Amino acid sequence: MNSCIFCKIINKEIPANIIYEDADFLAFLDIRPLSPGHMLVIPKKHYRWVWDFPNIGEYFESVRKMAVAQQKAWSQPEIHCKIVGEEVEHAHIWVYPDPKSTKGDKMDFEGNAEKLRIIFDK
Ligand SMILES: [Zn+2]
Repeated sequence: MNSCIFCKIINKEIPANIIYEDADFLAFLDIRPLSPGHMLVIPKKHYRWVWDFPNIGEYFESVRKMAVAQQKAWSQPEIHCKIVGEEVEHAHIWVYPDPKSTKGDKMDFEGNAEKLRIIFDK
């Protein structure tokens, strides 16, 4: 029995504002955002730490895709990225626009998700 909350998001057992999904990775909005559009990028297979993922280059390509989408969505170049991993025991990377210079309501999850999804739909 897997009680990992991120695995439950991957399996669509609990809802999340999913922004992007492919065969290996999932990106969704953090429920406690530091700025509008703050995303978590996670591997779809459960790994405890980012450093356990076998192809870190592939993982980071996925993170870059999200950062570029945020640059476009908020028309500014400064995107921050953070790897800690202590709150949820499933590898995750934070990707978020600079909290100081990014305009918008970080708690407007639907609006921010839509802004980002439109970029991937193009
Ligand atoms: Zn997991």
